[in-house]
Amino acid sequence: MALMDECPETSECSEKCKAECCKRYWITLLPGELDRLADFAEMPRQRFIEEYCTLFADIFPMSKKAEGIVVFTGLVPDSIEAKAKEAFGEMPDFFLILPFIALKRIEGKCVFLNKENLCSVYKARPRQCALFPEISPDEGRKPEELYDFCRLAVKEAKGGLDLEHFKKMKDYFSEVEGRGFSKVWRNLPGNAVVKAYKEYFPVSKEDFLRLLGPYA
Ligand code: SF4
Ligand code: SF4
Repeated sequence: MALMDECPETSECSEKCKAECCKRYWITLLPGELDRLADFAEMPRQRFIEEYCTLFADIFPMSKKAEGIVVFTGLVPDSIEAKAKEAFGEMPDFFLILPFIALKRIEGKCVFLNKENLCSVYKARPRQCALFPEISPDEGRKPEELYDFCRLAVKEAKGGLDLEHFKKMKDYFSEVEGRGFSKVWRNLPGNAVVKAYKEYFPVSKEDFLRLLGPYA
C-alpha cells in the first residue's frame, strides 16, 4: 500500500492517489505479522496490541452449517441481528466468521499512515499491504477494474492470489478452529469491530468473544 522511500514509485504514488488503499481497507494480521510489527515499533507485544490493534471479524450469513468457523445465529450481537432482519426480513440460521486482530483506524485511515500519506511501518508492513493491488481478484474481475483509484493496479497488476499467503491464512483459520482464537493470539485488544452486511459494527470485547462461541 502506501509506499515509503524504498519504493521507486513513492512521490507519484502519494501525489496521485493520496494512499487511497490505506484509507479504504481494514488491515488484518496473522500472528507472525503482529510480532514483526511489535518488534519494529520496539514495543512489548501486549502494549503494541493495546495501542494499535482491534479485534475484527467479517461475518457472512449461511443457510446451513458448513465447514470452518461457523456459529449458530443466537450468538450474534443484537445490533447485528437488527441489521440482518432489516436486510433480509429474517435471520439466517448460521454465520461463517473470519476472526482476526486488525490494525486500528483513526479518522478513516490506517493508524500507521502518516501526514505525508506514507506508511510509517513500511519495512514491517503486513503482507496484505505488500500484496495490494494484487490481493483480491473478486468474482473474476481484474485488479484495474476493482481498484481503479490505484495507479499500480492500472499499470502493473497481473491478478491472481499469492498462494503462500493464502496457505498461511488457511493454516491460521484451522488453528483458530482447533485451539480457539484466544489461545492462538495469547493477548487480545480491548475493543472490537464486526463487519456484516457491508457495514461495520463496534461491539464490546465480550460480545466479540461470545460471537465466536466454541471457537473463542
Ligand atoms: S498501492 Fe495503489 S492505491 Fe496504494 S498508494 Fe500505491 S498507487 Fe495508491
Ligand atoms: S500498515 Fe502501512 S501500508 Fe499498510 S495500510 Fe497501514 S499505512 Fe498502509
